[in-house]
Amino acid sequence: MKSIQDTVRLHNGVRMPHLGFGVFKIEDGKEVIHAVKVALEAGYRNIDTAAIYRNEEGVGQAIRETDIPRDELFITTKVWNKGQGYDRTMNSFGRSLDKLGLDYVDLYLIHWPVEGLYKETWKAMEKLYKEGHTKAIGVCNFNVHHLEDLMKDSEIKPMVNQIEFHPRLIQEEVRMFCDSNDIQVEAWSPLMHGKLLDHPELIQIGRHYGKSPAHVILRWDLQHGVITIPKSVHEERIYANADIFDFQLTQEEMVIIDALNRNERFGPDPDDFDF
Ligand code: NDP
Repeated sequence: MKSIQDTVRLHNGVRMPHLGFGVFKIEDGKEVIHAVKVALEAGYRNIDTAAIYRNEEGVGQAIRETDIPRDELFITTKVWNKGQGYDRTMNSFGRSLDKLGLDYVDLYLIHWPVEGLYKETWKAMEKLYKEGHTKAIGVCNFNVHHLEDLMKDSEIKPMVNQIEFHPRLIQEEVRMFCDSNDIQVEAWSPLMHGKLLDHPELIQIGRHYGKSPAHVILRWDLQHGVITIPKSVHEERIYANADIFDFQLTQEEMVIIDALNRNERFGPDPDDFDF
């Protein structure tokens, strides 16, 4: 990984940039338009939104206001829990596409594994994929048992599983399963929402390279082969978070960071959520 534009090949051949820009909790309108434009200027090409973030319109507006050709961008959105089931997913997708003002997305994801619904949702995702409305399909927050259950009844296996992943939650079991099934892992809340940025070991490792703890974490993601999508509304942080392609953590440093794992979640547990 030498540059912000480097990509990973998903199992269907689609290329997805290693580094993306997350827009959860960025307000629709001015705020998200500005943030996405800054991210695009900084070189990000992968933007991660969702129906529930209620900022797809602003994301779409920012895309329309850039000169970057559509096929150089990688746009992800997600079907929210209340939009799951076959017909509802088809409708949710249509609404997302309208709001984004696009004629296809690059990746459509199931946001959470809603029991009793995710298989029907997946059938709709397969149809949307086969019809070319989305270049790739995947899931978020699926544990191994969810993936096994989905895959035994599906035609197409997910190309991506977006999960909470940071040095306090290294998700070895899910990552091993995904690696052996050629499902790309993508990290959400890679910075644990800023909670890890004063960690002494991360500070010490970063100092050696003239890098911040955020750089160290994001680089650790990439070296684990995990796509990462940090969010910020601050111009200098959006630029700074992309400055991770000019250093390489040693194997020893990777092990030190892995050892910070406490199986500690920032967000809800996929086996125990009620929204
Ligand atoms: P992150 O781990 O990306 O952390 C974002 C927080 O860290 C913000 O408060 C931001 O503040 C701060 N921050 C960012 N960069 C820096 C920096 N260099 N130094 C100090 N502070 C920094 O958390 P998110 O929860 O936003 O996760 C990233 C993305 O993942 C989301 O935006 C969304 O796209 C996706 N996601 C997906 C989920 C799913 O269920 N599939 C769930 C949650 C997130 P500020 O903005 O003020 O700079």
